[in-house]
Amino acid sequence: MKYTENAFERAESILTERQQKAESEHNSRLQEIADKAPEIYRLYSESLRLNYALIGSIGKGGSQNVSQQITDIRDKNLELRKTMRRMLEACGYPEDYLQYHYVCERCRDTGYCEGVRCGCMKKLLADFTAEEVNSYCSIKLGDFSEFRADYYSTKPLPNGEVPREKMIKMYEYLRGYAEHFDENSQSLFFFGRTGLGKTFLSSCIAKELISQGHNVVYGSILKLMRQIEDERFNRSDGDTTSILLNTDLLILDDLGSEFQTQFTDSVLYELINERINNHRPTIISTNLTTKELNKKYNDRIVSRIVGCFIPCSFVGNDVRLEKLKNGELR
Ligand SMILES: [Zn+2]
Repeated sequence: MKYTENAFERAESILTERQQKAESEHNSRLQEIADKAPEIYRLYSESLRLNYALIGSIGKGGSQNVSQQITDIRDKNLELRKTMRRMLEACGYPEDYLQYHYVCERCRDTGYCEGVRCGCMKKLLADFTAEEVNSYCSIKLGDFSEFRADYYSTKPLPNGEVPREKMIKMYEYLRGYAEHFDENSQSLFFFGRTGLGKTFLSSCIAKELISQGHNVVYGSILKLMRQIEDERFNRSDGDTTSILLNTDLLILDDLGSEFQTQFTDSVLYELINERINNHRPTIISTNLTTKELNKKYNDRIVSRIVGCFIPCSFVGNDVRLEKLKNGELR
């Protein structure tokens, strides 16, 4: 996966902050021990001195004599550390009180393990890169608590469905979906007329997942496709396609609004198909009817959506019109 330049800068500055925090917390714990338990502090200083001695001996090369010396220092130091941990516990401190505490113990917050990028750094890079993509797609994130069932009518539709009842169930289902999201979560296909809350509820899922630490990219398909086209034809840097392929959840809003070309169709198919093959869930929303969808897109796109996405039908009256009537929409 390709990350943005900006993401690297931000990740590195977070890692530096983490290292500084580990260092300063360590120093204040050390100061506390020096004040309150000087005998432990003496052991700690002695252990540090032995470490330096060890480094010095290793630097002298590998003669028989020197390697015996190294083993002796190492054993002595281990013994010392053991005593130190026991004394810390006896004084009511955790036994690792004088060790450095990192957010990521694996790489000690350096971002690298044996020369390879650590998982913690990859996570930061992916999150910052996703944030950048999300920032140019400008969808306002909603919150599940803002859902208003009373915008949906209690008057049954010709097929007998009551919009309010149906949408309350939909809301509960989607909330559960977001709360229990993992790599086994299904892909969802939101359809229904405009103004029924499809964008709002998908943005609520995005917000919930981001707060859980998942990586989410959400955006109008129109803007995402424009960005991908600009990159493909060298009008802009970046690799949005790879970001969209790799994010934990991809939300493509308003399918059908993009300026459709063979190129956008092939990108759309690639995104849908590869994400399905890699078990990465996607949410697609559209105002198109099934008939329009079939007419507008080729079989392989439609059959992937119909075959692999759970259909979520949004019904009711236009929520935005209801809000307007109540004077709640600016
Ligand atoms: Zn790490």
